[in-house]
Amino acid sequence: MQVTYWAEHAWLETHVEPGVTIETADGRVTAVRKGADTPPPGAVVLRGLTLPGLANAHSHAFHRALRATVQVGSGTFWTWRETMYQTAARLTPDTYFDLARAVYAEMALAGISCVGEFHYLHHAPGGARYDEPNAMGEALIAAAAEAGIRITLLDTAYLSSGFGEPPNRHQLRFSDGTADAWAERAAALKAPAHARIGAAIHSVRAVPAAELRTVADWAAERSAPLHVHLSEQTAENDACARAHGTTPARLLADHGALGPRTTAVHATHLTDEDIALLGSTRTGTCMCPTTERDLADGIGPATRLQRAGSALSLGSDSHAVIDMFEEARAMELDERLRTRARGHWTAAALLRAATADGHAALGWPDAGEIAVGSLADLVTVALDTVRTAGPLPRLGAETAVFAATAADVRHTVVGGRHVVRDGQHTSVPDVPAALAEAVAALR
Ligand SMILES: [Zn+2]
Repeated sequence: MQVTYWAEHAWLETHVEPGVTIETADGRVTAVRKGADTPPPGAVVLRGLTLPGLANAHSHAFHRALRATVQVGSGTFWTWRETMYQTAARLTPDTYFDLARAVYAEMALAGISCVGEFHYLHHAPGGARYDEPNAMGEALIAAAAEAGIRITLLDTAYLSSGFGEPPNRHQLRFSDGTADAWAERAAALKAPAHARIGAAIHSVRAVPAAELRTVADWAAERSAPLHVHLSEQTAENDACARAHGTTPARLLADHGALGPRTTAVHATHLTDEDIALLGSTRTGTCMCPTTERDLADGIGPATRLQRAGSALSLGSDSHAVIDMFEEARAMELDERLRTRARGHWTAAALLRAATADGHAALGWPDAGEIAVGSLADLVTVALDTVRTAGPLPRLGAETAVFAATAADVRHTVVGGRHVVRDGQHTSVPDVPAALAEAVAALR
């Protein structure tokens, strides 16, 4: 199928170009032409600023059910986690499908064309296996299809509660018992065209050191992405030091888990040596600033990591909000507060984290650019709303990153198919109602 789009303005990596014709065939870009003041006959008009589709590199879909409810009272990451476990305990393959479909539809409305789902809710309450051992993962892949977005299912090994401790009663749902059993189950997952399968190590707390290499090798054999929560909390670093006399980053390196296909999520509390290690191994970093501030994690050393050689991606993680523009500007604005200096990243660099580098971290190196051969994934931001009106169009990237919100997304195209048109989802008719019903079903 051939579709021609005309972007009133398009972001072409380095700058905003007015009047760009984007030809696509079978879901890929076949030509990009500049200098078309008016739409060519038959072209689909994208009015506003068109960017490559956004990649949400770190998601736990079910955390969306916690929105607002976890804002009552005080506490820490660890008390928040108790509430999160209670919600997890209520999910079944059917209710998780309904929730994830609605959450991924919310993502599509926010311009997200690809999600990295860090998935560890594998089994029934108490740890019993479903008849189909991958029922939960398959529900997520199906949910993404119905919501019209791509998914990398990062099937997550989660085997222990802490160093040398068995899973607690909540975590029985997460555990396959051993890394070998995890590998066998994960190997049975099938990826339809909109999906890719990757691996994840929940954290060095949750996978014993002797089993890390099994997960790393599984990903290496498949050239698949490998993600890991790294040093989100200082308590994890302290426990790792007690158990192994080293940092989580060093422990992962010693067991073959770092490298260019690996993404360290959070990477908040690192030593200088950790930063050098992640950079020199070309391990990527996924920052989740809206979650990290929500959970009082701290501010990760993203500028130093990038300078050391780590590519940056962004994720909405716990979905306190789902808005990649907010994630992008939050990374820069957190750094401004910490350093009392401005301009650590350009808007273009922040967009790159939300597009090309995010897709690469999820195993989609052929997405995230408006270029010949790329997947035809596009998002158009309105430049005529109360938030975005005023700036010159050539400042579209700055407008998108520093002023727009998810509510300013007008169109989302995935593989040459309009998933969001004029702010309306084309296959989930009432996304707010779908969210409300799916969340209510878990109370
Ligand atoms: Zn996470």
